[in-house]
Amino acid sequence: MSECLFCKFVKREIPTQVVYEDEHAFAFRDINPQAPTHILVIPRLHIENLAAMGTEHETLMGHLLWVCAEIARQEGIESEGYRVVLNTNRAAGQSVYHLHFHLLGGRQMTWPPG
Ligand code: 5GP
Ligand code: ZN
Repeated sequence: MSECLFCKFVKREIPTQVVYEDEHAFAFRDINPQAPTHILVIPRLHIENLAAMGTEHETLMGHLLWVCAEIARQEGIESEGYRVVLNTNRAAGQSVYHLHFHLLGGRQMTWPPG
């Protein structure tokens, strides 16, 4: 998916504010933060969204959640609390079709979400 923006971040073709990377995961600060900490955690592999996930991605998805937890520790938002959001398709407001976990923290979250 050469036209995918997030793939271009992963390949370092477009610069972004990277906060974490390893063999399977990549994380960077959201350009339009909705909380003091707003980081996107993505697989290096191009997967459109949760609806496109297969059983072959189970280990990868578990790893991405661990990365969210690890970054939350690094960002100092673990004890106060944080939210991890995965928007899937139009009604959820998905705008970039490369699977990404939003890691949000640093303020009080409300429920239900909008
Ligand atoms: P979605 O709406 O698909 O769940 O989330 C996409 C997210 O990507 C949004 O929060 C949006 O602000 C972020 N985003 C879109 N374009 C860019 C960009 O060029 N750089 C960064 N860092 N984030 C982006
Ligand atoms: Zn992609």
